[in-house]
Amino acid sequence: MASEIIYIISSPSQPGITSSSAISFLQLTINFKIYKLFIFHKNGGESIVKLKLKQEGICWTCRMCGKCCDSPTVSKKDIGNIGGFLKISFNEVVKKYLKEYDGVRGILKEVNGKCIFLKGNKCSIYKVRPIICRLRPFSPQLDNNEIVLTYDRWFLDNCPGLYIGNAPIDNEEVYLKYGIAVINNLGLEEPTPQHYFEKFKKRNSRITK
Ligand code: SF4
Ligand code: SF4
Repeated sequence: MASEIIYIISSPSQPGITSSSAISFLQLTINFKIYKLFIFHKNGGESIVKLKLKQEGICWTCRMCGKCCDSPTVSKKDIGNIGGFLKISFNEVVKKYLKEYDGVRGILKEVNGKCIFLKGNKCSIYKVRPIICRLRPFSPQLDNNEIVLTYDRWFLDNCPGLYIGNAPIDNEEVYLKYGIAVINNLGLEEPTPQHYFEKFKKRNSRITK
């Protein structure tokens, strides 16, 4: 079983969470083995949201094929990080590397159908790769009123690193943290319909027979 963990995120108007209610909630959470919770501040208010990993009996190991490197959505923070890494301004990153930018989020340009930063099968800005790239093949989604981190539909159809099984992923906590960063910067992604998981399992059970 995954380790117990709690993630706390604070808004700029409330830097750091030091209120006793937040801290006692953390204690209570650990004692009662409820985990993967974070405190999400919105408009100065507090609400508590659970983020669970939902793998549906599907394992994943990245084969570094670069297939999923197409045109990721980037946050303002990602753009700033890329600019810092390349030693160019925010606006230059937008101009040179983004095909769309609405002032909040953008989309990286493609070259021959692949992300402009993919060189060979490798990411040339790996150290500052966008948060959404770090989270692949998972995406945070709403599922029966719960926020879950689960496989994005594209990966069930295309990622060669997925296979049937129940092995846990390495660094589950890290993925949950990336999931939270994606929720905060870009929002939830479109839910993967249940039939994609079934289709994947059917297809792969035939392949492994
Ligand atoms: S498609 Fe899958 S295996 Fe290939 S790089 Fe992306 S996550 Fe890794
Ligand atoms: S930024 Fe890097 S990891 Fe993300 S899609 Fe481009 S090449 Fe792939």
